[in-house]
Amino acid sequence: MNLDVLAIAAHPDDIEQTCGGALIRMAEMGYRTGALDLTAGDMGTRGTPEQRVAESEEAARHMLLKWRGNMHMPDARLQNDIGARMSLAVKIRELKPRVVILPYWQARHPDHYRCGELGYEACFLAGLKKLDEYSEPHRPQKILYSSVYADVKPSFIVDISAQFEKRMNALFAYTSQFGAAEEGAGLFPNEQEIRDRLGAIARFYGNQIGVRYGEPFVVKEAIQVDDIVAMPVKSI
Ligand SMILES: [Zn+2]
Repeated sequence: MNLDVLAIAAHPDDIEQTCGGALIRMAEMGYRTGALDLTAGDMGTRGTPEQRVAESEEAARHMLLKWRGNMHMPDARLQNDIGARMSLAVKIRELKPRVVILPYWQARHPDHYRCGELGYEACFLAGLKKLDEYSEPHRPQKILYSSVYADVKPSFIVDISAQFEKRMNALFAYTSQFGAAEEGAGLFPNEQEIRDRLGAIARFYGNQIGVRYGEPFVVKEAIQVDDIVAMPVKSI
């Protein structure tokens, strides 16, 4: 499989909240997009891993993904060890993404920052010819960090105004997490509250580039610009 973009995240529904709009927009432009969840959320208060995976497949349809998979690594205790790095590197060699989206490398949840670190190191390993005898080397061209929950200045913001509602529909495919279940009702906000929160965050980033809804990303390297006259986003 040759994917143009692969998003890698720790838990099912992370991608829907952080970079789902950009994935939908790329799919609408004709790119082949995919999502790889490292865990099935087996430590979650609500839902079973089987339910979460089934819901993630439903969400994948809303996001127009060509491929979605789950590594079934241990939730809430994700480790960046050699076993995890190797299995992820082999997956990256199979999927051959040109662009990989990872969670930003600092976060409250240990799984999130570990996924960022693990993803980066697996992308590096995936490019080594002698990694294994069975798969072809492949190194992604670009790594983007989804920074929506990090308090950092984005390197760039993707306009997802036309994709925001589709992204919300993808998120609400996780009925075990966002439905009106009794279990953990005090812990889990209701649908309107989630809509308001995610809407406010997307509006905040959209506002920075003069559009309605946006998704922020960080890259470690500089961004090349060829036409400084045609640069979007007003300065004053
Ligand atoms: Zn998560």
